[in-house]
Amino acid sequence: MKTLTIVGGAVIGLSCALRAAESGWEVTVYEPDQTCAASRVAAGMLGIAGESRTGEDAYLAFAEQAMSRWPAFLERLGDDRIVAASSSLMVGVDSADVGELTMVADWLRGRGHPVEPLTGKEIRILEPAVSSRIRSGFRAGGELAVDNRRLLQVLSDRAAEAGVRTVRSQVTDLADVRGDQVVLAAGVNSALLSPDLGVYPSKGEVLRLGWATGALPPPEHVVRGRINGRAVYVVPRHDGVVVGATQYDGGDDRLPVAGGVADLLSDAIELMPSLREYRLLSAEAGLRPATPDGMPLIGRVDDRTVVATGHGRNGILMSAITAELVAETLAGKTIDNPSIDAGRLSWATQ
Ligand SMILES: Cc1cc2nc3c(=O)[nH]c(=O)nc-3n(C[C@H](O)[C@H](O)[C@H](O)COP(=O)(O)OP(=O)(O)OC[C@H]3O[C@@H](n4cnc5c(N)ncnc54)[C@H](O)[C@@H]3O)c2cc1C
Repeated sequence: MKTLTIVGGAVIGLSCALRAAESGWEVTVYEPDQTCAASRVAAGMLGIAGESRTGEDAYLAFAEQAMSRWPAFLERLGDDRIVAASSSLMVGVDSADVGELTMVADWLRGRGHPVEPLTGKEIRILEPAVSSRIRSGFRAGGELAVDNRRLLQVLSDRAAEAGVRTVRSQVTDLADVRGDQVVLAAGVNSALLSPDLGVYPSKGEVLRLGWATGALPPPEHVVRGRINGRAVYVVPRHDGVVVGATQYDGGDDRLPVAGGVADLLSDAIELMPSLREYRLLSAEAGLRPATPDGMPLIGRVDDRTVVATGHGRNGILMSAITAELVAETLAGKTIDNPSIDAGRLSWATQ
């Protein structure tokens, strides 16, 4: 049996490990400690409309492909507590916010993405906790959210059941790693092991709030708002919500900043006033593994090494498709996908 070593055991590494083990590889994952992984900090939205920026057509196309892999992925994982929401509402307060949302909705619609316009009243019928100040928005049907911590636990369990071995230590040099093939999936730390990839940290903060007796229950949808020009989202959990997220390119420490936490709290409460009564469970920061053009790096860089990193703001969404593309690369197949451009990867490794 051929041996595969995966460096990094969070959402990307574990998804690749499970898929490779099911394709007949003997897999070992090196993962020292997942506590600081972006995969744990994340909010868990499978966001296409919410995370694609107007004009990023290639990104939108890849995000849609990524989403199309989720039904089968969820079925394989077989755990009905992973899904946290089944669709998303995008809402705005002032005329500038609404204007911005309309532009995004038009762009999405023009590319065949399902968008359902909603008045403020219709939004409050779907989500009674949304502020009466919300003027309008749209529903992005089928844009799920998952409980990313539950997902990590289930992925880890399924990988172990499929025979994946985990070594609790950090890799300091890819040359020291044994295995016929190696997959680099160390998130932002991929830059330390392979600096030429150009992966850099994009820091983001999130808050976790717990439902308190007497308060309105958590929403059923992901609610993404533009409040006073800033983006904020509220993602349901069965016992509370995740509020996010700030973005500071280049920030490389994992401590939340007071100002970021204050903005998130005030914007979330403006979006959904009942959150004022929730308990503040945590404020955390994580490092998204970003790339200069925003697209992930998935593909072969030499005879023994395949990279699966640079997933930026959408690594949870892109986990299933990444595992599939890595398995195909390991099997020697040529990958036909807009995110994989051999020229780009060879540029990155020059
Ligand atoms: C605030 C915030 C909110 C986000 N929200 C979302 C969201 O809603 N939806 C979404 O799709 N994405 C979201 N993301 C992005 C998503 O979290 C990342 O794209 C994704 O988690 C990247 O996964 P990864 O496995 O590549 O990296 P990570 O999750 O960072 O994991 C890398 C792993 O590699 C291990 N490692 C590092 N160095 C070594 C080494 N030398 N040897 C061995 N192991 C090593 C680490 O311990 C870590 O466990 C968010 C990110 C942030 C910060």
